[in-house]
Amino acid sequence: MNTEHVSSEMNAVVSQRIELTKGLIILRVVPKDFMIPDFEPGQFAVLGLPAGQRHDGKLIKRAYSIASSPLEREFMEFYIALVPGGELTPRLFRLQPGDELWLSKKIKGSFTLDGVPEDRNILFLATGTGLAPYMSMLRSCITLDASRKFVVVHGARHSFELGYRSELLTMQKFCPNFTYVPVITRPHEEAVPWHGDAGHIQDLWKHQDLEKICGFKANPANTHVFLCGNPAMIEETAEILANEGYRENTRHHPGEIHLERYW
Ligand SMILES: Cc1cc2nc3c(=O)[nH]c(=O)nc-3n(C[C@H](O)[C@H](O)[C@H](O)COP(=O)(O)OP(=O)(O)OC[C@H]3O[C@@H](n4cnc5c(N)ncnc54)[C@H](O)[C@@H]3O)c2cc1C
Repeated sequence: MNTEHVSSEMNAVVSQRIELTKGLIILRVVPKDFMIPDFEPGQFAVLGLPAGQRHDGKLIKRAYSIASSPLEREFMEFYIALVPGGELTPRLFRLQPGDELWLSKKIKGSFTLDGVPEDRNILFLATGTGLAPYMSMLRSCITLDASRKFVVVHGARHSFELGYRSELLTMQKFCPNFTYVPVITRPHEEAVPWHGDAGHIQDLWKHQDLEKICGFKANPANTHVFLCGNPAMIEETAEILANEGYRENTRHHPGEIHLERYW
């Protein structure tokens, strides 16, 4: 491996590693020789690490949504799931504070609140680490944008996998326009009885429970829906929404459904 070449590419350093479970971490990353780039909440950066000798010193690079707000100038935060057997995530999970990695200077993505009319409510639906882009959006605008309602529905298997739960509960306490709905699929495996919602996000929507939970009847005229995370959740929910008259937002055709597919 050309180690000199690789180390010159390691342009960022891990400042903090917060382990939620063996398969979920929050990684805080600080650029070494450049400022945190400007970005829109909801966009993604690319992280990279050397692949090892077999790959001739090349970096393995993957996209990660930025969970911190662009207003946070000390670090960039990422919420990362371990993919067993994956190329990059087992390496990312081994990183400790002080370890170096590669961080893209260019931040990309169109999964943002840009183009959403100011008077529309926002429904953020996520499974797992699909919550990351919403954390950046909420951390940036929840206190400034009190005219519309924000709802986060976050799905995980177990309650201990619901990252950012305390922060979202606190936001809910202090922001009357914000509702947080955690949903788990395996309530029978909880250590103490789960009194929240259970099942898949798409089923909540199908059974109209969301209206009860959000306190308003969402429709394409008053609400934009963001979907991020597990492809099955995205596809099934997008289909339900399309049947209710929502249209997918694309570069050429504005719509009320915004999608970010992680894989
Ligand atoms: C725009 C964008 C933003 C992303 N943001 C995030 C983020 O904030 N947090 C995050 O954890 N991931 C995010 N991802 C996914 C990330 O880029 C990697 O795909 C993922 O971390 C797996 O990388 P790997 O090299 O370990 O696995 P690979 O070797 O690339 O993948 C092995 C296989 O695992 C599957 N896979 C990929 N991701 C997952 C997953 N999360 N769960 C289950 N199976 C998976 C795929 O089918 C893939 O073929 C994002 C992807 C995109 C496109």
